[in-house]
Amino acid sequence: MSRFLSSRHKDLKPYVPGEQPREGVLIKLNTNESPYPPSPGVLARVAEEAGKLRLYPDPEARGLREKLAARFGVGVENVLVTNGSDEALAFAYMAFFDANTPVAFPDVTYGFYPVFCRVFGVPAEIMPLREDFSVRVEDYIGIGRHVILANPNAPTGLFLPVEEIRRIAESNPDNIVLVDEAYIDFGGESAVPLIRQYENLLVVGTFSKSRSLAGGRIGYIVAPAPLIQDLDAVRNSFNPYNVSRLALAAGEAALEDQAYYDANCREIIRIREETAEKLRGLGFVLTDSKANFLFARHPKRPGGELHKALRERGILVRWFNQPRTADYLRITVGTPAQMDALVEALRSLIEGG
Ligand SMILES: *Cc1c(COP(=O)(O)O)cnc(C)c1O
Repeated sequence: MSRFLSSRHKDLKPYVPGEQPREGVLIKLNTNESPYPPSPGVLARVAEEAGKLRLYPDPEARGLREKLAARFGVGVENVLVTNGSDEALAFAYMAFFDANTPVAFPDVTYGFYPVFCRVFGVPAEIMPLREDFSVRVEDYIGIGRHVILANPNAPTGLFLPVEEIRRIAESNPDNIVLVDEAYIDFGGESAVPLIRQYENLLVVGTFSKSRSLAGGRIGYIVAPAPLIQDLDAVRNSFNPYNVSRLALAAGEAALEDQAYYDANCREIIRIREETAEKLRGLGFVLTDSKANFLFARHPKRPGGELHKALRERGILVRWFNQPRTADYLRITVGTPAQMDALVEALRSLIEGG
């Protein structure tokens, strides 16, 4: 730390992203990327757009917002586009959260929520999940805090029915309820239709997982128009050209190729269930994941040990060395060949003693 770092940041604990190894070295199942490339339409549009990089992108992201609005059956005024959904989360913190009201979120969830609490000076109220990692919905009813829920949750993969989100939003009318739907396309149901009824509800999404665009950095927020206006004011006070020309083009083309991504998601769900079954056969215990990853532990092998042994065999998975998750591995659903390699490596580790 230099002597120049603002005292405001003395307690900073930055997010630690999953390892991004140099290409081709490992079977990479650690950051929930799609195993499939972006659709051919995306590749063509990005190549075409590259010729226009001399010019700034549309600061209002009109084209992509219109397409997202059409997809969700809402108005353009209900949509904001961001540089990945991490930026969407940051704008929500900047616009709505401060030192006066804590933001409540589960003890086991996306690691960025507590990181943003520190950098933006917002108190965190950590809400323990049940033993089985399910959300204690009653704890959030009328809590009088802002609420953030990843749905499906990460790294557990558990999905909370939209009716429960509705109850939480309805019982906290004076607070923001933010639903992070990064994994919604792998078997969950979106809370977006509820934004018509609840003026405090904000849904965040990303093109990083189901749309094969993690490297493109495209996120979005769907919310009632007054909330979007506030978020847009923050965005324009921070970085009006927050989404690049290439990202906007990629995002629009991706929404035109919905059938391609729907097919990919169906296949990822199929591979997820098939792999889960094989891991259960090896004695693993798994959550009922509705995401593009599995969350698995073996009763006889610590997560850290398996993580390390897999790495030595060229397979990278995510391991969170924290009290409630240290027994578990979070394994991104990859291609059938990658899953076969994973299952065989685990088989030799488990059966090899
Ligand atoms: C991956 C992820 C994000 C961030 O995605 P971006 O790449 O920044 O769009 C946000 N929330 C959760 C729960 C995630 O897993």
